Amino acid sequence: MTASRRTFAIISHPDAGKTTLTEKLLLQGGAIHLAGEVKARGQARRARSDWMKIEQQRGISVTSSVMTFERDGITFNLLDTPGHEDFSEDTYRTLTAVDSAIMVIDAAKGIEPQTRKLFEVCRLRSVPIITFVNKVDREGRACFDLLDEVADMLALDVCPMSWPVGMGGLFEGILDLGTGKVSRPEGGSREFLGKVDENAELPGEVAEEVELAQVGYPEFDIDAYRGGDLTPVYFGSALKNFGVVELIEAIANFAPPPRPQPTEAGPVEPDNKEVSGFIFKVQANMDPMHRDRIAFMRLVSGTFKRGMKLTPSGLGKPIAVHSPIMFFAQDREIADSAEPGDIIGIPNHGTLRVGDTLSEKNQIRFTGLPNFAPEILRRVALKDPTKTKQLRKALDDLSEEGVIQVFYPEIGAQWIVGVVGQLQLDVLISRLEAEYKVEAMLEAAPFDTARWIKGSDRALDEFAEFNKMNLAKDRDGDPVFMARSAWDVGYQRERNPDLTFSATKER
Ligand code: GDP
Repeated sequence: MTASRRTFAIISHPDAGKTTLTEKLLLQGGAIHLAGEVKARGQARRARSDWMKIEQQRGISVTSSVMTFERDGITFNLLDTPGHEDFSEDTYRTLTAVDSAIMVIDAAKGIEPQTRKLFEVCRLRSVPIITFVNKVDREGRACFDLLDEVADMLALDVCPMSWPVGMGGLFEGILDLGTGKVSRPEGGSREFLGKVDENAELPGEVAEEVELAQVGYPEFDIDAYRGGDLTPVYFGSALKNFGVVELIEAIANFAPPPRPQPTEAGPVEPDNKEVSGFIFKVQANMDPMHRDRIAFMRLVSGTFKRGMKLTPSGLGKPIAVHSPIMFFAQDREIADSAEPGDIIGIPNHGTLRVGDTLSEKNQIRFTGLPNFAPEILRRVALKDPTKTKQLRKALDDLSEEGVIQVFYPEIGAQWIVGVVGQLQLDVLISRLEAEYKVEAMLEAAPFDTARWIKGSDRALDEFAEFNKMNLAKDRDGDPVFMARSAWDVGYQRERNPDLTFSATKER
């Protein structure tokens, strides 16, 4: 069964066309009823305040967190990575739950900052990437330019799998470099509606480019792709439906089926009979007055059945999963079980945390679900100082959900929150008010970044003696060095060779 699952995400910079592509993938896969939802969310995102309202209502983002479709006997699980202009740990963590990713690039822009950041996360976890150069129906940069940029900036081998027959006003379709067939635009909208030329005559300059491309780049090598060293590149237009089916076929034919996941005792294989999985995302439920949450579990091994008892690593006591949210492709709607690679939403009251392992026998612990060092740090100040207790509870809850990270300094009473994107701060303030009735202000913190420190007790004590002002504990009580600058980190790293300073923390 696992051979027939593909669990993947789309990474891109805002406006590159992720929403449009998602919609087209779902349409091709027959999951048409979902396409409208994706669109609604895409538009809502344009206005921040609208987006926050929608996020608060939660209904839409829960159902579109996982989108499933089937084609030729393969079940595709597409996990949504929130694509705001800022991004959060949520985005990063979703990438821990996929086996591969599609990287969407705007043909006019090339690699943009967010694409690059998300790519780095994929690289950290050896997640293989298929590249989609979008919007070739418009004037874009030269193909060679784009290919070389991907190769240079991301240090990847690139292998073009298709080639645009002109761009913008000259766009006359997409050539499949493997078969020599050309998909053609049709009608007033110049969309791809299924017209394919078998032995197309190519305009002179395109024929020349194609010849150069075929000798200039390495051949496609599935092992190099799966190892994260090579990316196949498809050109297309999500809006006009070019290259969409090719992407689905690429995921089906090349992308890895559910992969083994690491534990300290070695990897757990998907065909292991014991049901196991890990929580990669926790989301508050629709009604902010109820403290229910949905924990999203990626199934790693075994066949999950509704009602099954699983033990969360953080708890030690089994819970019966009676009413899981299952995400189904069209004709699996009556199914009651899930396979490795599938995602299950588990309602709970805050017992399940991001990074928890769930398993039948409670002997498996997945590693490698990182927290990322925040890039923005702020002090939290209360308007009403009697609300300290509520604030602590709220910060603990929200850090559990992965909305923020919280640091409690060793000296001084003011707590510090850390985020990787500015938008998270807005979400924090609005949720503090709406859900916890706490009015708070964020003030500049004298720190720029944070590093988790590890070492022997002696080394840690010694460090603490000289750096009390810069020490804090995170939500789990683990020591964190609050640094004034990246330089500060380097300096302390050199002076304290017995300690490690790390920008990620694995739970
Ligand atoms: P996202 O922010 O990455 O989700 O991007 P969207 O899918 O919302 O697309 C951003 C804008 O680019 C929208 O106006 C889309 O209509 C447009 N767009 C997306 N794909 C294409 C394409 O292939 N060609 C053209 N011309 N426009 C596109």
